[in-house]
Amino acid sequence: MQYSDNALNSYPFLENYFKTAVLKDNLAHCILFYGSDISSQYNIALEIARMLNCRGTHNSDCTCLNCNWIRENKHPAVMTISRVDNKPSNDNSKTVISIEQARMIKNDLLVTSDYHRVYIFCDRDKNEEICGLNQLNFQDEAANALLKTFEEPPANTTFFFLTKDVTDMINTIVSRAQSFYVPSLKVTQRDISLVKEFMDGYLELEKNEVLDFIDKINSALKDEDAENIFNQMQNYINGLLRTNSDNSALQAKLISDFKAVETAKKENRLNINTQSIVETLSFKIIL
Ligand SMILES: [Zn+2]
Repeated sequence: MQYSDNALNSYPFLENYFKTAVLKDNLAHCILFYGSDISSQYNIALEIARMLNCRGTHNSDCTCLNCNWIRENKHPAVMTISRVDNKPSNDNSKTVISIEQARMIKNDLLVTSDYHRVYIFCDRDKNEEICGLNQLNFQDEAANALLKTFEEPPANTTFFFLTKDVTDMINTIVSRAQSFYVPSLKVTQRDISLVKEFMDGYLELEKNEVLDFIDKINSALKDEDAENIFNQMQNYINGLLRTNSDNSALQAKLISDFKAVETAKKENRLNINTQSIVETLSFKIIL
Protein backbone atom coordinates (compact mmCIF):
# COMPACT_ATOMS: atom_id res chain seq x y z
CA MET A 1 0.00 0.00 0.00
CA GLN A 2 1.38 3.37 -1.02
CA TYR A 3 1.35 5.92 1.74
CA SER A 4 -0.03 9.20 0.53
CA ASP A 5 1.49 12.32 1.98
CA ASN A 6 -1.55 14.34 1.05
CA ALA A 7 -3.97 12.17 2.97
CA LEU A 8 -5.00 14.93 5.35
CA ASN A 9 -4.73 17.82 2.89
CA SER A 10 -7.79 16.51 1.11
CA TYR A 11 -9.81 16.83 4.31
CA PRO A 12 -9.39 20.38 5.66
CA PHE A 13 -11.94 19.78 8.40
CA LEU A 14 -10.06 16.74 9.73
CA GLU A 15 -6.69 18.34 9.10
CA ASN A 16 -7.53 21.37 11.26
CA TYR A 17 -8.99 19.21 13.96
CA PHE A 18 -6.10 16.76 14.23
CA LYS A 19 -3.31 19.33 13.83
CA THR A 20 -4.79 21.26 16.74
CA ALA A 21 -5.32 18.12 18.83
CA VAL A 22 -1.71 17.02 18.30
CA LEU A 23 -0.40 20.50 19.05
CA LYS A 24 -2.44 20.83 22.24
CA ASP A 25 -1.74 17.23 23.21
CA ASN A 26 -5.43 16.43 23.69
CA LEU A 27 -5.93 13.73 21.09
CA ALA A 28 -8.42 11.02 22.08
CA HIS A 29 -6.93 7.59 22.90
CA CYS A 30 -9.38 5.79 20.64
CA ILE A 31 -10.32 7.17 17.26
CA LEU A 32 -12.84 5.54 14.95
CA PHE A 33 -12.94 6.42 11.25
CA TYR A 34 -15.92 5.38 9.16
CA GLY A 35 -16.92 5.68 5.52
CA SER A 36 -16.49 3.71 2.30
CA ASP A 37 -12.94 4.87 1.53
CA ILE A 38 -10.85 2.75 3.91
CA SER A 39 -7.52 3.47 2.20
CA SER A 40 -7.97 7.21 2.86
CA GLN A 41 -8.76 6.40 6.49
CA TYR A 42 -5.56 4.38 6.71
CA ASN A 43 -3.48 7.18 5.18
CA ILE A 44 -5.00 9.73 7.55
CA ALA A 45 -4.14 7.49 10.53
CA LEU A 46 -0.54 7.20 9.28
CA GLU A 47 -0.31 10.96 8.77
CA ILE A 48 -1.49 11.57 12.34
CA ALA A 49 1.03 8.96 13.53
CA ARG A 50 3.70 10.92 11.62
CA MET A 51 2.69 14.20 13.27
CA LEU A 52 2.80 12.51 16.68
CA ASN A 53 6.29 11.07 16.15
CA CYS A 54 8.03 13.81 14.15
CA ARG A 55 11.26 15.04 15.73
CA GLY A 56 12.06 17.38 12.86
CA THR A 57 10.41 20.37 11.24
CA HIS A 58 6.82 19.20 11.90
CA ASN A 59 5.94 20.06 8.31
CA SER A 60 4.36 17.51 6.01
CA ASP A 61 7.60 17.31 3.98
CA CYS A 62 9.82 16.69 7.02
CA THR A 63 12.53 14.09 6.43
CA CYS A 64 13.47 13.21 10.01
CA LEU A 65 14.01 9.53 10.73
CA ASN A 66 10.56 9.06 12.29
CA CYS A 67 8.75 10.73 9.38
CA ASN A 68 10.70 8.67 6.84
CA TRP A 69 10.02 5.43 8.71
CA ILE A 70 6.32 6.15 8.79
CA ARG A 71 6.25 7.06 5.08
CA GLU A 72 7.84 3.69 4.37
CA ASN A 73 5.40 2.10 6.82
CA LYS A 74 8.16 0.50 8.87
CA HIS A 75 8.16 2.56 12.06
CA PRO A 76 8.66 0.25 15.07
CA ALA A 77 5.94 1.98 17.11
CA VAL A 78 3.31 2.40 14.39
CA MET A 79 1.63 -0.95 13.88
CA THR A 80 -1.13 -2.20 11.64
CA ILE A 81 -3.25 -4.73 13.51
CA SER A 82 -5.35 -6.98 11.30
CA ARG A 83 -6.15 -10.69 11.01
CA VAL A 84 -2.98 -10.97 8.84
CA ASP A 85 -0.68 -8.16 10.06
CA ASN A 86 1.46 -8.38 13.18
CA LYS A 87 0.53 -11.84 14.40
CA PRO A 88 2.63 -13.34 17.19
CA SER A 89 4.44 -16.55 16.17
CA ASN A 90 2.22 -18.77 18.34
CA ASP A 91 -0.91 -17.48 16.63
CA ASN A 92 -2.52 -19.67 13.97
CA SER A 93 -5.76 -17.73 13.62
CA LYS A 94 -6.34 -16.47 10.10
CA THR A 95 -9.81 -14.97 10.15
CA VAL A 96 -9.81 -12.67 13.16
CA ILE A 97 -7.79 -10.19 15.14
CA SER A 98 -6.96 -12.66 17.89
CA ILE A 99 -6.70 -12.75 21.63
CA GLU A 100 -2.96 -13.49 21.15
CA GLN A 101 -2.60 -10.19 19.30
CA ALA A 102 -4.46 -8.47 22.13
CA ARG A 103 -1.97 -9.99 24.60
CA MET A 104 0.96 -8.95 22.43
CA ILE A 105 -0.26 -5.34 22.46
CA LYS A 106 -0.75 -5.39 26.23
CA ASN A 107 2.77 -6.77 26.70
CA ASP A 108 4.23 -4.15 24.34
CA LEU A 109 2.62 -1.43 26.38
CA LEU A 110 4.15 -2.66 29.64
CA VAL A 111 7.49 -1.37 28.38
CA THR A 112 7.93 2.37 28.17
CA SER A 113 8.74 3.84 24.79
CA ASP A 114 10.29 7.04 23.49
CA TYR A 115 7.86 6.94 20.61
CA HIS A 116 4.18 7.79 20.43
CA ARG A 117 2.72 4.34 19.86
CA VAL A 118 -0.02 4.01 17.27
CA TYR A 119 -2.05 0.88 16.57
CA ILE A 120 -4.22 0.89 13.45
CA PHE A 121 -6.93 -1.77 13.64
CA CYS A 122 -8.27 -2.75 10.22
CA ASP A 123 -8.63 -5.68 7.84
CA ARG A 124 -6.91 -6.72 4.63
CA ASP A 125 -8.47 -8.41 1.62
CA LYS A 126 -6.89 -11.15 -0.49
CA ASN A 127 -5.14 -8.54 -2.66
CA GLU A 128 -3.58 -7.13 0.52
CA GLU A 129 -5.62 -3.94 0.21
CA ILE A 130 -6.59 -2.36 3.53
CA CYS A 131 -10.28 -2.82 4.31
CA GLY A 132 -12.59 -2.22 7.23
CA LEU A 133 -13.28 -3.89 10.55
CA ASN A 134 -16.54 -5.71 11.09
CA GLN A 135 -17.98 -7.99 13.75
CA LEU A 136 -16.50 -11.06 12.03
CA ASN A 137 -12.86 -9.99 11.75
CA PHE A 138 -12.83 -8.09 15.07
CA GLN A 139 -14.89 -9.94 17.63
CA ASP A 140 -15.85 -9.38 21.26
CA GLU A 141 -13.23 -11.79 22.58
CA ALA A 142 -10.21 -9.82 21.35
CA ALA A 143 -11.86 -6.44 21.93
CA ASN A 144 -12.80 -7.34 25.50
CA ALA A 145 -9.22 -8.38 26.23
CA LEU A 146 -8.19 -4.82 25.35
CA LEU A 147 -11.06 -2.81 26.80
CA LYS A 148 -9.16 -1.60 29.85
CA THR A 149 -6.19 -0.70 27.66
CA PHE A 150 -8.43 1.24 25.28
CA GLU A 151 -9.90 3.12 28.24
CA GLU A 152 -6.69 3.91 30.06
CA PRO A 153 -3.71 3.33 27.83
CA PRO A 154 -0.22 4.38 28.89
CA ALA A 155 0.83 7.90 27.90
CA ASN A 156 1.57 8.51 24.23
CA THR A 157 -0.57 5.71 22.86
CA THR A 158 -3.32 6.04 20.24
CA PHE A 159 -5.63 3.42 18.75
CA PHE A 160 -7.31 3.84 15.39
CA PHE A 161 -10.23 1.73 14.19
CA LEU A 162 -11.17 1.76 10.51
CA THR A 163 -14.59 0.66 9.32
CA LYS A 164 -17.15 1.25 6.58
CA ASP A 165 -20.08 1.79 8.88
CA VAL A 166 -20.27 2.44 12.61
CA THR A 167 -22.93 -0.29 12.83
CA ASP A 168 -20.30 -2.82 11.63
CA MET A 169 -18.29 -2.25 14.79
CA ILE A 170 -18.85 -3.85 18.16
CA ASN A 171 -20.54 -1.42 20.52
CA THR A 172 -17.89 -1.65 23.21
CA ILE A 173 -15.45 0.01 20.80
CA VAL A 174 -17.89 2.58 19.40
CA SER A 175 -18.81 3.76 22.89
CA ARG A 176 -15.16 4.29 23.82
CA ALA A 177 -14.00 5.95 20.62
CA GLN A 178 -14.27 9.40 19.17
CA SER A 179 -15.86 8.87 15.73
CA PHE A 180 -15.08 10.73 12.53
CA TYR A 181 -16.76 10.32 9.17
CA VAL A 182 -14.20 10.27 6.35
CA PRO A 183 -15.82 11.22 3.02
CA SER A 184 -14.73 9.15 0.03
CA LEU A 185 -12.24 10.68 -2.38
CA LYS A 186 -13.10 8.12 -5.02
CA VAL A 187 -15.19 9.96 -7.56
CA THR A 188 -18.06 7.66 -8.28
CA GLN A 189 -21.26 8.99 -9.70
CA ARG A 190 -23.78 7.88 -7.14
CA ASP A 191 -27.49 8.01 -7.75
CA ILE A 192 -29.27 11.10 -6.43
CA SER A 193 -32.26 11.04 -8.80
CA LEU A 194 -34.86 10.53 -6.05
CA VAL A 195 -33.63 13.37 -3.84
CA LYS A 196 -32.14 15.94 -6.21
CA GLU A 197 -35.32 17.99 -6.37
CA PHE A 198 -35.60 18.65 -2.65
CA MET A 199 -31.87 18.58 -1.85
CA ASP A 200 -30.89 21.19 -4.45
CA GLY A 201 -30.31 24.39 -2.49
CA TYR A 202 -31.15 22.83 0.88
CA LEU A 203 -28.20 24.63 2.51
CA GLU A 204 -29.81 28.00 1.75
CA LEU A 205 -33.24 27.10 3.16
CA GLU A 206 -34.43 28.97 6.22
CA LYS A 207 -36.25 27.68 9.27
CA ASN A 208 -39.65 28.83 7.97
CA GLU A 209 -39.16 26.60 4.92
CA VAL A 210 -38.66 23.39 6.90
CA LEU A 211 -42.28 22.27 6.63
CA ASP A 212 -42.14 22.60 2.88
CA PHE A 213 -38.90 20.58 2.85
CA ILE A 214 -40.56 17.89 5.00
CA ASP A 215 -43.52 17.72 2.58
CA LYS A 216 -41.16 17.14 -0.32
CA ILE A 217 -39.33 14.32 1.45
CA ASN A 218 -42.66 12.76 2.38
CA SER A 219 -43.88 12.83 -1.17
CA ALA A 220 -40.64 11.14 -2.31
CA LEU A 221 -41.22 8.53 0.42
CA LYS A 222 -44.66 7.61 -0.94
CA ASP A 223 -43.21 5.48 -3.72
CA GLU A 224 -39.78 4.68 -2.32
CA ASP A 225 -38.18 2.80 0.48
CA ALA A 226 -36.93 5.19 3.20
CA GLU A 227 -33.49 3.53 3.22
CA ASN A 228 -33.10 4.38 -0.51
CA ILE A 229 -34.08 7.98 0.06
CA PHE A 230 -31.67 8.36 2.98
CA ASN A 231 -28.83 6.70 1.03
CA GLN A 232 -29.35 9.09 -1.84
CA MET A 233 -29.40 12.05 0.55
CA GLN A 234 -25.98 10.87 1.76
CA ASN A 235 -24.80 10.55 -1.85
CA TYR A 236 -25.92 14.12 -2.42
CA ILE A 237 -24.08 15.38 0.68
CA ASN A 238 -20.95 13.42 -0.34
CA GLY A 239 -21.03 15.21 -3.70
CA LEU A 240 -21.10 18.57 -1.91
CA LEU A 241 -18.24 17.47 0.35
CA ARG A 242 -16.09 16.66 -2.68
CA THR A 243 -16.78 19.93 -4.47
CA ASN A 244 -16.31 22.08 -1.35
CA SER A 245 -13.12 20.57 0.06
CA ASP A 246 -11.56 24.02 0.54
CA ASN A 247 -14.28 25.36 2.84
CA SER A 248 -13.75 23.86 6.29
CA ALA A 249 -16.80 25.51 7.90
CA LEU A 250 -19.07 24.13 5.18
CA GLN A 251 -17.34 20.73 5.44
CA ALA A 252 -18.16 20.62 9.16
CA LYS A 253 -21.82 21.44 8.45
CA LEU A 254 -22.02 18.81 5.69
CA ILE A 255 -20.43 16.14 7.87
CA SER A 256 -22.89 16.89 10.62
CA ASP A 257 -25.75 16.61 8.07
CA PHE A 258 -24.34 13.31 6.84
CA LYS A 259 -24.34 12.03 10.42
CA ALA A 260 -27.93 13.24 10.93
CA VAL A 261 -28.99 11.15 7.91
CA GLU A 262 -27.02 8.22 9.32
CA THR A 263 -29.04 8.53 12.53
CA ALA A 264 -32.26 8.62 10.46
CA LYS A 265 -31.20 5.38 8.74
CA LYS A 266 -30.59 3.73 12.10
CA GLU A 267 -33.96 4.86 13.47
CA ASN A 268 -35.65 3.62 10.33
CA ARG A 269 -34.13 0.17 10.83
CA LEU A 270 -35.55 0.22 14.36
CA ASN A 271 -38.99 0.81 12.84
CA ILE A 272 -39.43 4.21 14.40
CA ASN A 273 -42.27 6.17 12.80
CA THR A 274 -41.00 7.51 9.46
CA GLN A 275 -42.88 10.77 9.83
CA SER A 276 -41.13 11.64 13.05
CA ILE A 277 -37.72 10.54 11.69
CA VAL A 278 -38.14 12.89 8.71
CA GLU A 279 -39.21 15.77 10.94
CA THR A 280 -36.29 15.34 13.36
CA LEU A 281 -33.87 15.05 10.46
CA SER A 282 -35.20 18.13 8.66
CA PHE A 283 -35.04 20.30 11.74
CA LYS A 284 -31.44 19.19 12.26
CA ILE A 285 -30.17 19.98 8.77
CA ILE A 286 -32.14 23.15 7.97
CA LEU A 287 -30.61 25.88 10.08
ZN1 LIG B 1 9.66 14.70 11.03
